[in-house]
Amino acid sequence: MLPRAQLDVSAAALAIKPVCDDVRERGALAVREYTIRFDNVDLESSLVPRDALKAALAALDPEVAAALSEAAKRATVVHQAQLPTETVTMVADGSSVTERYVPVSRAGVYVPGGLVAYPSSVVMNVIPAQVAGVGQIAVASPPRPEFGGLPHPAIMAACELLGVTEVHAAGGAQAIAMLGYGTRYCAPVDTITGPGNVYVAAAKRLLRGVVSTDAEAGPTEVAIVADHTADPRFVAADLIAQAEHDPLAACLLITTDPRLADDVDAELAGQVPSARHTDRIAAALAGQSGCVLVDDLAVAIAVADAWAPEHLEIQAAGAAELARAVRNAGAIFVGPYAPVSLGDYLAGSNHVLPTGGTARHSGGLSVTTFLRGIHVVTCTKPALAEVAPYIDALGGAEDLAAHVNAVRIRVPAPPAKPQATQATQATQATQATETAMGSTATSQPQASGEGLPLLRADLAGRTPYGAPQVHARARLNTNENPFSPSAELVRAIADAVVAAASNLNRYPDRDAVALRGDLANYLGHGLGTEQVWAANGSNEIIQQLLQAYGGPGRSALGFEPSYSMHPIIAKTTCTTWISAARSEDFSVDAERALAAIAEFKPDLIFLTSPNNPTGTAMPLPVIEQVCAHATGMVVVDEAYREFARDQGGTALHLLPRYPRLVVVRTMSKAFALAGARVGYLAADKNVVDGLAVVRLPYHLSALTQATARAALAHADELLARVHVLSAARDDLIGWLRGRGLRAADSDTNFVLFGTFDDRHAVWQALLDRGVLVREVGPPGWLRVTIGTDDELDAFRTALDEVLT
Ligand code: PMP
Repeated sequence: MLPRAQLDVSAAALAIKPVCDDVRERGALAVREYTIRFDNVDLESSLVPRDALKAALAALDPEVAAALSEAAKRATVVHQAQLPTETVTMVADGSSVTERYVPVSRAGVYVPGGLVAYPSSVVMNVIPAQVAGVGQIAVASPPRPEFGGLPHPAIMAACELLGVTEVHAAGGAQAIAMLGYGTRYCAPVDTITGPGNVYVAAAKRLLRGVVSTDAEAGPTEVAIVADHTADPRFVAADLIAQAEHDPLAACLLITTDPRLADDVDAELAGQVPSARHTDRIAAALAGQSGCVLVDDLAVAIAVADAWAPEHLEIQAAGAAELARAVRNAGAIFVGPYAPVSLGDYLAGSNHVLPTGGTARHSGGLSVTTFLRGIHVVTCTKPALAEVAPYIDALGGAEDLAAHVNAVRIRVPAPPAKPQATQATQATQATQATETAMGSTATSQPQASGEGLPLLRADLAGRTPYGAPQVHARARLNTNENPFSPSAELVRAIADAVVAAASNLNRYPDRDAVALRGDLANYLGHGLGTEQVWAANGSNEIIQQLLQAYGGPGRSALGFEPSYSMHPIIAKTTCTTWISAARSEDFSVDAERALAAIAEFKPDLIFLTSPNNPTGTAMPLPVIEQVCAHATGMVVVDEAYREFARDQGGTALHLLPRYPRLVVVRTMSKAFALAGARVGYLAADKNVVDGLAVVRLPYHLSALTQATARAALAHADELLARVHVLSAARDDLIGWLRGRGLRAADSDTNFVLFGTFDDRHAVWQALLDRGVLVREVGPPGWLRVTIGTDDELDAFRTALDEVLT
């Protein structure tokens, strides 16, 4: 029997039921009376005035404010990565199921607040709701007489910092009932999350069904799996940190090493007396806490799994491997430098986690707490006819004739032949269906799942990636070059294609030697043909790089937000994708980059510079630092390099010194050749040799090669237009900023601008006015491609209209 405090939520539920019922019946009046009774504060309205929130933030210690901002930023990145994508599954011809994830309209977050308050709880509950796209968020926290009848100032400040303007001064069961049932001051919410005491847990249990809630939170707990390599000072400090929360906190050490157990004991004896909350800590450690000695680490993990702790720390040799073997835990903290305190505040992970063994069946708070998956089903008449015999059979077996009729009224069954036996009915129905569809197909309806394509499990449910190809007057959504080739260039391409056409009976030059030579010439930097490689768009270049240098068991890292095809191609090539975050201004400094390298040791690092969708470039010295410290290949995606203000900033300079550096370019942007699909790279000859192994023979058609060479011969003319676009970009940035909007610095042919509370609405309103931009990047931002003057005028006019 492993220790754990027992909480009697059922008993508490009996006690608070009358309170909740009363709030349901009498609303705000009941909330007011319970607030007087339990909190000694009389408030006519539960709503906290906005001025009080602003004042609380103004008075907040700037260091705490900065820390909360950083915590929020990190949590935002992690929770954005959780957002599920809409998936469309074509179940059969004409029959699809789309899984759409829709946020709840209104969420209530409860934040306990006695004399100590946890503003970090505000971050951990509010950020997932905001990232999920919840329209309205109401926070409730108990009022305190010593704070003038308002909630704890730190909680109010955190709300203001995160942009939550609806805060209610209400606590305990009455606050949960207020959120769930609604009062005249608080509209009812759809979902309630947030920690609280046993009465809050009981009220959430009672309200479940009226609203959805997060998991029931009991006393906090940690299990630390440690072996002889663990530092007893760290282990003791983490046990104490957990015990500091609550006399009922459970702190378990599971170790293979009796000496470590003794050393931790000795450390506890030294550290506990000097701790701040000695009484709580001593009570927790003496109560439901303990040490389990085990024979080996496999048993240690089995013990941890059986206990299913809220927090599991692994401070043992091979910690990362062991972590992979864990089945039951709220969150796992791996190695000596990932203490639970990191997860409580700054890891970016969520600290609202399942306690009391519920980690066996539940996970922590996440964006999915605030989302619902909705199946959207479509079916054509022939596809319905195809499955109608099965619905006949199932509806018949369940005696639901009206179900069968609802289908047959749409796709009538053929008259059954008198001699038909049951066994032949399905076949006849199929034949009839085929006749009805005018189909001569020989396939038969199959038993469930049979006959569906056997897609790789890790690809199932994924949707093809791509920007919407919607018709619009100004198409400014895919970073194309708006200038079509000049008449002269069109002629040159046509001539080159004609010449190539007369040889189309032959396969093209498999190694595209002439084209690669032209590209090497264009790039300069002393590059030769053997250091340049070309493919169908830089997307294919990236795919070949991942096939050759990534793949199963390998990893690739990128600093996001960045070009979304990098992770997508990584995944389709079975390369583990590691997403590291850019800083607030979208930059990646050397410190951040080197820390990511040290931590993840990726086999490939993608540096997109200038970056899509932010437009920002990475200084050459930072790229060089990455090259100097990288453990694997460094891929600098320079798709937009020609548009950069600092023409000297290309990573081509570094190629002679770094044999694992790859510089990727494309002809889609500066060369205005997106339709021809030509991308290329420059790298060490050995890198190119590796790519030749994975490329398909004759991957680049003779027509593509001829077209690209014709365009390269017109490089001067094309690059002159790049300057025009770059100047228009700088103007547009000035214009946007002049409108009070934010616009990221851009070294590309697009601008990321915003921010908007509802960017989709702005996107739609622009589209309604004939201007198509792209909904990408961090929440609130939109991206506009630099188009022709006319297109940009249309964009400015439309945006002005939308904003006024
Ligand atoms: N890299 C980046 C950063 C991009 O933005 C794009 C396309 N938008 C590509 C690569 C791929 O371009 P293509 O395949 O057309 O060369």
